[in-house]
Amino acid sequence: MRLATIEQAITSAPAQHGASLIDYAGWSTPGVLRDLLCRVFPRQIALVSSFGTESAVLLHMVSGIDKAAPVVFLETGKLFPETLQYRDTLVERLGLLDVRSVQPSARALALSDPSGTLWHSNPDVCCWHRKVEPLDEALSGFPAWITGRKRFQGGMRTALPLIEHEPDGRVKVNPLVSWNAEQLNRYMSEHDLPRHPIEAQGYRSIGCAPCTRPTAPGADPRAGRWAGHNKTECGIHSPNAANAALTKTSNPA
Ligand code: SF4
Repeated sequence: MRLATIEQAITSAPAQHGASLIDYAGWSTPGVLRDLLCRVFPRQIALVSSFGTESAVLLHMVSGIDKAAPVVFLETGKLFPETLQYRDTLVERLGLLDVRSVQPSARALALSDPSGTLWHSNPDVCCWHRKVEPLDEALSGFPAWITGRKRFQGGMRTALPLIEHEPDGRVKVNPLVSWNAEQLNRYMSEHDLPRHPIEAQGYRSIGCAPCTRPTAPGADPRAGRWAGHNKTECGIHSPNAANAALTKTSNPA
């Protein structure tokens, strides 16, 4: 798998580190990961994984480089039980040694979502407390993180670069940015990786159970996320925008 030239517009070194990011033009995806995990950010870069339908690809690559690499999993309290089962299956199969299942603040939920139905009335605030805030805390101290986003997923992901520099100085890497569904499926098959238990039921993009629907073959896989709401992302990739939405909904005009 080769990365297109435009994706390697690496512009600056991470501020807090001696090792520099380099131009990854022509590198394989595992090669990029190895350089990041072993040279640039040793044990200082976290893979954030949903343990969804395509998550096994990055988890497999990372486990082949460093089984003790930190992996952050947002256990929102609203996930499908099959996702928790799949997490356990992959952790055992791949020998991952540092998977951190991060939970929302019980105090925040007691104040904002005592009935557990905030996902229905205000999904932006629900995602804020169950995903954005816990991830922010989990990534504290990490100068870099890895996501599984791809351009083919569309929407706000259509123009993703390989590497992003966030306003707070943290580096965000999207190693699979140019992969498509066929390539992901082929990788899963070639490495005999287990599939998410409910993928075969039409769930091709899997998040929290109340906010995920199966989609028809050929339809946009992410169309099943937050169906019926004007929402396509949970907010962890644009916390400033999520915060603005949160403020707006908390203080309606
Ligand atoms: S995906 Fe749904 S249930 Fe999960 S945190 Fe967001 S709004 Fe809440």
